[in-house]
Amino acid sequence: MQTYQDVVCTVCGCLCDDLEVDVDGNKVMKARNACAMGTSKFLSYTHDRIETPMIRKNGSQQPANLDEAITKVAEMLVNAKYPAIYGLALSSCETVRIALELTEEVGGVMDNQSVVCHGPGVLGLHEIGVSSCSLGEIKHRADLILCWGCNPDEAHPRHFERYSYTAKGRWRNGKADRKLVVVDVRQTSTARKADKFVQVDQGKDYELINALRTALRYEQIQQENVAGIPVEEIEELAELLRNAEFGVILFGLGVTQTSGKGRNLDGLFSLTRDLNKYTKFQIMPARGHFNVNGVNEVSAWQTGFPYGIDFSHGYPWYNPGETTVTDIVRRGENDAMLVVASDPIAHFPKALANRIRQLPLAAIDPVHSVTTMVADIVIPSAFAGIEYEGTAYRMDGVALPLKKVVEPPQGVLSDEDILKKILDKVREIKGRSA
Ligand code: SF4
Repeated sequence: MQTYQDVVCTVCGCLCDDLEVDVDGNKVMKARNACAMGTSKFLSYTHDRIETPMIRKNGSQQPANLDEAITKVAEMLVNAKYPAIYGLALSSCETVRIALELTEEVGGVMDNQSVVCHGPGVLGLHEIGVSSCSLGEIKHRADLILCWGCNPDEAHPRHFERYSYTAKGRWRNGKADRKLVVVDVRQTSTARKADKFVQVDQGKDYELINALRTALRYEQIQQENVAGIPVEEIEELAELLRNAEFGVILFGLGVTQTSGKGRNLDGLFSLTRDLNKYTKFQIMPARGHFNVNGVNEVSAWQTGFPYGIDFSHGYPWYNPGETTVTDIVRRGENDAMLVVASDPIAHFPKALANRIRQLPLAAIDPVHSVTTMVADIVIPSAFAGIEYEGTAYRMDGVALPLKKVVEPPQGVLSDEDILKKILDKVREIKGRSA
């Protein structure tokens, strides 16, 4: 039995890096310190594995060899006028770098899961700028945590104990020294633990954020209530935030993907800026997929843009509303799609999923999904952070090294190596036709 120390958990954006993983032979036996979600991944990542590459022939997926599948994917991308490459939030940063190179080579669009999660937060950041910090600073200094439209108690189970509300920091003794405020449309499990819960009307976050900004400036709100909240309560909340020594706003899909979207985030980033006139306040997205932040970061280093990057002009171009995968699929513009470690057929709106199904479609994934079931070409891959090493970015932008603790199934490569092979094959085909 071998024990690996300081293993990073590859489930959510907390990227807890204190796991102790026991491996016997090539089997993970235990993952100490992980929450239920992390434990479940380490102990059951072998379930539902795709065992062999597959190519659709005569309407059904048939086993194929790896070289044949790689050639098919390369041909699909070369033959397309405007292909899309999508996913990668569950891959390493090194894989993202190769995916960008491949997308540039084939003149397509590269996009990631941000488009259906925290993309509006990225737009808000462009518009207003951001005051942020590391999770370590929250642990040691924060005395007020405001969760807006997120539920870390269930979605990031160790966030509170490791980094925020109940964490014992250098200057904060757990929840005895902190207040937790939750703004949400329903009483989530995080809200039940909160010192203050503000139940905002569905789709009215933008109104509440602006009323709060008004109250913060000591200006009068000319209504009895806003977004279902009495004005006196909004004024009390403004006072609570103003009096914090070090506050942080954590936000989630309850505010990025509801009415207002990017405007909600303009508002929350502006609220954070306003609060810094009175005290120290930070804002941070509660990112879901473990390396969705890494896809944004690597895309931004390489191209200047975090998601929805269009290479069809011969240079990177970015205009959310025009160049994201959801935009181009909705308008029926892309003519092929390669999905890496993602399941858009299960998660996109039905009309978009139906369009994707009509396209030449390839999927690289360790496990079966709805997307791999309908794809024309499927290539199995190794699990990042379990079967191959690399780098990932935590929700606060801290880069952490992912460890390899077991070997992947025989013949199964990392998605990084698979994409490198596809890129080589694309160049070979293009060289031949040129
Ligand atoms: S909180 Fe997230 S990263 Fe940490 S152990 Fe749980 S699932 Fe893994």
